[in-house]
Amino acid sequence: MTLPTVSFEFFPPKNLAGSFRLWDTLRVLAPFEPGFVSVTYGAGGTTRALTHEAVTAIQQKAGLRVAAHLTCVDATRAEILDIAQSYKAAGITDLVALRGDAPGPNAGGFAPAPNGFASAIELTRALKDAGDFTIRVGAYPDGHKDASSMAQNIDHLKAKFDAGADEAITQFFFEPDSFLRFRDACAAAGITQKIVPGILPIENWEGAKRFAQRCGAPVPRWLDDAFTKALRDDRQDLLATALATELCSTLTQNGVDHLHFYTLNRPELTRDICTALGLSARAPLAQVA
Ligand code: FAD
Repeated sequence: MTLPTVSFEFFPPKNLAGSFRLWDTLRVLAPFEPGFVSVTYGAGGTTRALTHEAVTAIQQKAGLRVAAHLTCVDATRAEILDIAQSYKAAGITDLVALRGDAPGPNAGGFAPAPNGFASAIELTRALKDAGDFTIRVGAYPDGHKDASSMAQNIDHLKAKFDAGADEAITQFFFEPDSFLRFRDACAAAGITQKIVPGILPIENWEGAKRFAQRCGAPVPRWLDDAFTKALRDDRQDLLATALATELCSTLTQNGVDHLHFYTLNRPELTRDICTALGLSARAPLAQVA
């Protein structure tokens, strides 16, 4: 069986300690030779400058292909297209185009900014027209809180591909069937582009559970029980590594050839999962850079 290729998501550091942590994460994970790495854009568009700095620094200093996330929140169309142009000028060719959510834990749904993009479909189309970018978009195997049905969720994804997206990366999910069912339903709806599973190595079960519940993703009872026991025995990392490795293996046995890891700027679990899958760390970062 051929081994999958991988990519890694990071968030932009907010201070010096965070910068060191990101660099350490890169040092551990770059040797797995990711196809690309991506850098998030803070909820509510709050990290615009930090994302830009992190994206360009990783590209220049680590020599990795970097995809910059962009959202429609709290910015005019002109501002977003300016950011895209500045990425183009810096040699960044990959973008992740997202609608985003309204800022704040208790904020309501998304509302377009005055003169802003109204949806990820509009954003994708405008970025495609703006230049020669590889554009990835989000996809939701367990549905999305704003989707009226799974069919509508898939129609919406198809519209993003029709607007020019090249690939989709999914929200994390806990069971392989969520992804495989979704992939089949997308294919049945005429989607031919690649849909890459997003994998969350679970560092913190309570946090992962809260996030999943907020997104409306189902949390299997057996998984909650397993983490409760593992936490009691101080074996949470072992369980997280074993479960994610099994999830990834099932996906690759079913034809998935690329895995995207949500690293949360912590490299250990992702490294252990990649190693367990048979990937080997090759060139150290010093040689990659
Ligand atoms: P969309 O695909 O546009 O919408 C999600 C669903 O809502 C659709 O499937 C559809 O069913 C429904 N919907 C939305 N708009 C409409 C419409 N106009 N008409 C009908 N139905 C509609 N957030 C950040 O703030 N920063 C990030 O860096 C970030 N990175 C992410 C990376 C990935 C891979 C993923 C999957 C998500 C990321 N998010 C990020 C979260 C994302 O912003 C939220 O999930 C947001 O609610 C949806 O954004 P989207 O572009 O995927 O939405």
